[in-house]
Amino acid sequence: MRGRRADHVLVLGGGIAGIATALTLAQRGVRVTLIESRDRLGGRASSFFDAKTGLWLDNCQHVTLGCCTNYIRLCRMLGVEHLIRWDDEQYWVEAGGRTSVLKPSWLPAPAHGLPSFAMAKFLTWAEKARIGAALAQMRFLDRARYADRSFASLLDELDQEPGERRRFWDPIIVSACNLMPEHACAAAALQVFQDGFLKGAEAIRIGIMTVPLGEVYKPATAIIESAGGRVVLGESVARFDDRSATLANGQTLHADAVVCALPFEKARDVVDPALASSDSRFAPLAAMRHSPILGVHLFFDRPVLPTPHAVLVERDTQWLFRKDAEGKVVHAVISGADAWLDLDADAIAKRVVADLVACFPAAAGAQLQLARPVKERRATFAYTPGFDHLRPATHGPGGRGPFLAGDYTQTGWPATMEGAAISGFAAAACI
Ligand SMILES: Cc1cc2nc3c(=O)[nH]c(=O)nc-3n(C[C@H](O)[C@H](O)[C@H](O)COP(=O)(O)OP(=O)(O)OC[C@H]3O[C@@H](n4cnc5c(N)ncnc54)[C@H](O)[C@@H]3O)c2cc1C
Repeated sequence: MRGRRADHVLVLGGGIAGIATALTLAQRGVRVTLIESRDRLGGRASSFFDAKTGLWLDNCQHVTLGCCTNYIRLCRMLGVEHLIRWDDEQYWVEAGGRTSVLKPSWLPAPAHGLPSFAMAKFLTWAEKARIGAALAQMRFLDRARYADRSFASLLDELDQEPGERRRFWDPIIVSACNLMPEHACAAAALQVFQDGFLKGAEAIRIGIMTVPLGEVYKPATAIIESAGGRVVLGESVARFDDRSATLANGQTLHADAVVCALPFEKARDVVDPALASSDSRFAPLAAMRHSPILGVHLFFDRPVLPTPHAVLVERDTQWLFRKDAEGKVVHAVISGADAWLDLDADAIAKRVVADLVACFPAAAGAQLQLARPVKERRATFAYTPGFDHLRPATHGPGGRGPFLAGDYTQTGWPATMEGAAISGFAAAACI
């Protein structure tokens, strides 16, 4: 919006992008009406009440990194930054239990990780040398030139062999991009190494919320209300344009500006058809696809996980997170989980527990008391080669609305809480 201050803004969707937009505007005194179809805020990074356990469980463990400065800024605005626990160490565990700890040293970036990487036992010296040479080259590559290529093709070019692919590149890329290197866009993967791994000790540290994700957003409503706005939960947007939104209950709300922070498939479905045909940002959304993630909550009768988390080397279960002080409650994450979607809860639990026991043999006698898998079929957009050409700008032609926010917009990031926060701040800045 140019030249005039917006008094009232509609923000559609109460995920991280919508919350970031709404809080920024509210802190500048703008009256915001935030509309969310669920009965809680947080979108894809949220918690649900599990009747079996009587606990609030996250849909999946969400990890942030030190380089996610916009997400951290959002947490600061919500007053919850202190609830993030930071780990400098990464535990890579092989079958049999051999553990390598990757951690920063006193050396300056990009050499900060070198000493622990040199000591890592899950890679041979030859593999480490090839990975080191590839990382040294990746540091200087221009990401824009790799927007239409797969990361696997870049690994070919950098002479990476099957051993280091399976044990190093695959687990990092599938976790960060939610696709294996064969399918992941090389530009997206390069960003992970350039802005994360190689940037410095602070950038690569792992942040985990110490409370259920649902707790994180609770302060949002009071901040929005303090500027005269409101949060409308449990109401779906059925149509929107640049000045109004019609709810599924038939009510139409008007405002000076509209920010659509819905997922891309919803934005495409409920945008006013006349607007969609005149605004070139909407047609490419039809070509976007999803990639699934499986999260599994596991409850054991005794401690099974001695480390705060574990990357399981060459196992289908990629990450384990300890969810209690003792290590009896564990959360397992499988990214790029297409092959798991048709499995039932028992089959999923068997496979995950087999991976856990393979890497932590002392857990062999533990009884699994409950497994609670959560399949998120639409977890993230599939950041495949060419995806960057589909990503819409925040504003339309001439700086006009409706303004778009969401992890899928032009943030330069894979589908992450950081990307969502960036997009929300960008939409608020347009207004
Ligand atoms: C299983 C899983 C694991 C993940 N792990 C990580 C991780 O470790 N680290 C990380 O950084 N990111 C992770 N992500 C990605 C991250 O959660 C997302 O990128 C981010 O939350 C997207 O936020 P958003 O606001 O763009 O979209 P969303 O969260 O999808 O928000 C859109 C909101 O719009 C609402 N909505 C939909 N339709 C309507 C309608 N018609 N009317 C009103 N409201 C509507 C939705 O309910 C939702 O609240 C993970 C995602 C999943 C699913």
